[in-house]
Amino acid sequence: MKLANGLALNSHASGRHFLQIPGPSNVPDRILRAMDNATIDHRGPEFQELGRSVLSGMRKIFQTSGPVVIYPSSGTGAWEAALVNTLSPGDTVLMCETGQFATLWHKIASRLGLNVEFIPGDWRHGADATEIEARLRADSAHRFKAVCVVHNETSTGVTSRIPLVRQAMDRAGHPALLMVDTISGLASADYRHDEWGVDVSVSGSQKGLMLPPGISFNAISEKALAASKDAKMPRSYWDWSEMLGPNANGFFPYTPATTLLYGLHEALAMLFEEGLPQVFARHQRFAAATRAAANAWGLEILCANPEEYSPVLTTIMMPDGHNADALRKIAHERFNMSLGQGLGKVAGKVFRIGHLGDFNDLSLIGTLGGVEMSLAIAGVPFNAGGVQAAIRYLADSAVPLSSFSA
Ligand SMILES: *Cc1c(COP(=O)(O)O)cnc(C)c1O
Repeated sequence: MKLANGLALNSHASGRHFLQIPGPSNVPDRILRAMDNATIDHRGPEFQELGRSVLSGMRKIFQTSGPVVIYPSSGTGAWEAALVNTLSPGDTVLMCETGQFATLWHKIASRLGLNVEFIPGDWRHGADATEIEARLRADSAHRFKAVCVVHNETSTGVTSRIPLVRQAMDRAGHPALLMVDTISGLASADYRHDEWGVDVSVSGSQKGLMLPPGISFNAISEKALAASKDAKMPRSYWDWSEMLGPNANGFFPYTPATTLLYGLHEALAMLFEEGLPQVFARHQRFAAATRAAANAWGLEILCANPEEYSPVLTTIMMPDGHNADALRKIAHERFNMSLGQGLGKVAGKVFRIGHLGDFNDLSLIGTLGGVEMSLAIAGVPFNAGGVQAAIRYLADSAVPLSSFSA
């Protein structure tokens, strides 16, 4: 397959590419077609309608009645926005080492001149609410201005339980803000900004929202908005106060990513047609079927706590002496499928199967079939029958036919 610019993806690949990394995820045709439209005047009435519609739709996705801002940036920009809008130079924040993405957020905070206390982790568990509570209780001077947690750690396939973190903060009676990265969780895993008492939620377009990369989000609580009035970090492009005025009328302070907003409008329609609870249940089911396959293969899942299994992706550990990147290379060359690579501390030791966004039973069976064939070609010791186990799980948990006829 060749891209329009002549770059070769794979010289002899018929059929569609299986993009099974945990983001960017596959963009459905409906969204591609919705984006195939002329750019319009972003100060005109047609844009205003689009702007109002996507801004209010995103509140429903975050499950918040407060403001959501949309940046033309990757998720990394929205990470930075969360920090610079609420904090002052030299402030201390508490972060949890859940994996590579938590480590990167830590790096950004440090570069911005914040003081980060990092709770160490083994990359197999989510944020430790007990440890967070202990550190907050010990902080009677209220040095910590924020607790920052990654909801769905995309490098490990572990989902932190945000309500437990909130409860720990409340039990400690600590006033720190709660900031959550749900860049890969949102719109595939259940997420509730208001109910869970989150102050700033951070997300991006190219994971559960099924869009191409390029826009990102902050959902903002009243407490975070109040903190932003006193926050002294230099900011301009990311400044919430610049955004919120024009946003109230559906407009933006600078040129928005209009084409991606067309796509977002369509993505929101698709998610609301299916219903958020149904979307979340669909991804839980794919994750369970993927684990059934891994168990049958006799391969270990990186997430060590069943209560923290991610519905978005599953990270599988390679047996000792076998390199995950060699397996991924086979999957790519032989089956035109991209699997997620191991990042940071687990590079080469694990591979990741994304089952997020626009995804159905047969996408999963095709993906797992590609993995099982690649394991055999790579000479990895495993038991055959993982795909069968997944088929059995999907058949046993199939959505009844009657629910399609309505
Ligand atoms: C993808 C991802 C990011 C980074 O987002 P970019 O769009 O690549 O900047 C951050 N955190 C998590 C949890 C992610 O999955």
